[in-house]
Amino acid sequence: MTDYQAPLKDMRFALQELAGLRDLLALPAFASVDEDTALQVLDEAGNFARDIIAPLNVSGDRAGCRVVDRQVEVADGFADAYRQFVENGWPSLTGVPEFGGMGLPHTVGLAAFEMWNSANMAFALCPMLTSGAVNALSAHASEALKQSYLPKMVSGEWSGTMVLTEPHAGSDLAALTTRAVRDGDRYRLFGTKIFITWGDHPMAGNTIHLVLARLEDAPDGIRGVSMFLVPKYLVNEDGSLGERNDVFPASVEHKLGIHASPTCVLNFGESAGAIAYLVGEENRGMANMFTMMNQARLEVGVQGLALVERAYQLARSHALDRVQGTAPGHEGRVTIVHHADVRRMLLLMKSHVEAMRGAAYAMCADVDRSLHASDPAERERAAARAALLTPVVKGWLSEAAQELTSLGIQVHGGMGFVEETGAAQHLRDARILPIYEGTTGIQAADFVGRKILGDEGRAMKSLIADMRQTVAELDGADLDVIQAALREGTGLLENGVDWLLDNAVDDPDLPGAASVNLLMAAGIVLGTWHMARSALAVAGGHEEFDAAFCESKLVSARFFAEQVSPRAIAFVRAAMSGTASVMALDSDRF
Ligand SMILES: Cc1cc2nc3c(=O)[nH]c(=O)nc-3n(C[C@H](O)[C@H](O)[C@H](O)COP(=O)(O)OP(=O)(O)OC[C@H]3O[C@@H](n4cnc5c(N)ncnc54)[C@H](O)[C@@H]3O)c2cc1C
Repeated sequence: MTDYQAPLKDMRFALQELAGLRDLLALPAFASVDEDTALQVLDEAGNFARDIIAPLNVSGDRAGCRVVDRQVEVADGFADAYRQFVENGWPSLTGVPEFGGMGLPHTVGLAAFEMWNSANMAFALCPMLTSGAVNALSAHASEALKQSYLPKMVSGEWSGTMVLTEPHAGSDLAALTTRAVRDGDRYRLFGTKIFITWGDHPMAGNTIHLVLARLEDAPDGIRGVSMFLVPKYLVNEDGSLGERNDVFPASVEHKLGIHASPTCVLNFGESAGAIAYLVGEENRGMANMFTMMNQARLEVGVQGLALVERAYQLARSHALDRVQGTAPGHEGRVTIVHHADVRRMLLLMKSHVEAMRGAAYAMCADVDRSLHASDPAERERAAARAALLTPVVKGWLSEAAQELTSLGIQVHGGMGFVEETGAAQHLRDARILPIYEGTTGIQAADFVGRKILGDEGRAMKSLIADMRQTVAELDGADLDVIQAALREGTGLLENGVDWLLDNAVDDPDLPGAASVNLLMAAGIVLGTWHMARSALAVAGGHEEFDAAFCESKLVSARFFAEQVSPRAIAFVRAAMSGTASVMALDSDRF
């Protein structure tokens, strides 16, 4: 039996020891929130995950969604679960108080988000997109738009979407052609968008699309893209719903996973044009959309963590139950958890979960600090760190989820390949993570291009310096294996960054050839760092965490240092092989 609350203790540990929750809550912006309240909220979020949305995970996967009479129908039970989600106030957890939000730190919201995604990722995508749209509108919309739309979006009464992709414009959004035509003080949109998550559904009273489109006199490329708000139903001046707008779902995709999340082809302007309102300035749409995309990139990484946590719980239950073979030192036949290789697989999952959680929560705490720290220098430092780590957390966590949900199947043996156990659904659902919100290739290009070469390696050097501080703190802590792994990892990262800075100018293909390998190395060293910080926190016991928890943490950290950290050596070596073989074949030889 999977327990969506089981990781609560580790979440609390990561929040306190790795993300610095107590310091965050001491900021004036969070004066109304104390630690006990934050932890109680998480407890309740776990109950909601377990009792209301987890039971719909398998049935939603089997039922999927369909378009009937130009509307999307969702799986049974989803609309009722969403109603309860809204009635319980969950969408407004981190929303701005000015528009009815509770104003909790995003870091606390992220822990709740993790549990909802463990329980039912297809469901959790709907509020995830709404919260991203809320943040983008809060940052860039006019006061009038905010007043009309934000209160109902913050409460979840209306949901939000992110509408970028077109058939010929996926990674390359500069190629998008959806047309925006001026019509007085508003606009009309014409075009077809594809792959729009929760692009239409009956669960919320209205669906608010944030759409990228191009004005007819706009410059070519990404500098000619603007952001528009397009409601499914127009909103009257008194706030009531008016006419149906000219945006309709043409179909939903048949996918490998997340079947219960409708992924829509949306037609804008089949007749007079979809009425749209400009968000921010004309031709600034891409920059403004990054507010939503950066948040979503962190969250997609956490979806990977969430699925691995759940896959781990399932695999652990199976390993404790399934009897097969004999093991040294044990009489008779044993449960498979006694086999060293099964333990290796379980520890790969467990230690990754802890490292991934540390990396994601600590990064999110920097997002909170970048918004709310009292000292402007601290806000700037935190913003630079969060920007550097966004592609790493998205890329590494979503790629790691592929291996680890697959290992969840492996622990089950043949029963893992059979849908009834549920292990296969986690792998199927996880497969989208390295694709949407920018593929791993695009994250890696951002990491090496903008985040390393773009600032001449300064943000990376600052991260490496912080990691070296932990290496120094490990002196005398009797954690030699962990200290050695982190020392080696920081050296590898430094060499990789210096090599990139030295060679990228002369070889324009080099950043692209090296990028994913460098991103994966950075992810593994980041994980090593947070495991080392965890080990330091529990090495002499811990006032608030019991001895068994501390011992388990130390074992995870040591295992990660011994069995995962060395992978960074291979990634950096592969990166530094350069472009010779990668670029050798003419395209027609593939
Ligand atoms: C289930 C699902 C839900 C989605 N939800 C949404 C949504 O809500 N809103 C939305 O707007 N979109 C959504 N998308 C679209 C998603 O963001 C795109 O699929 C993704 O950005 C990749 O674009 P593409 O599919 O066109 O692939 P392509 O861009 O064609 O990429 C194909 C391959 O080429 C590589 N590649 C392309 N360009 C480069 C480059 N410059 N450098 C290096 N490698 C490159 C990619 O990494 C990839 O491996 C969703 C997609 C799916 C499948």
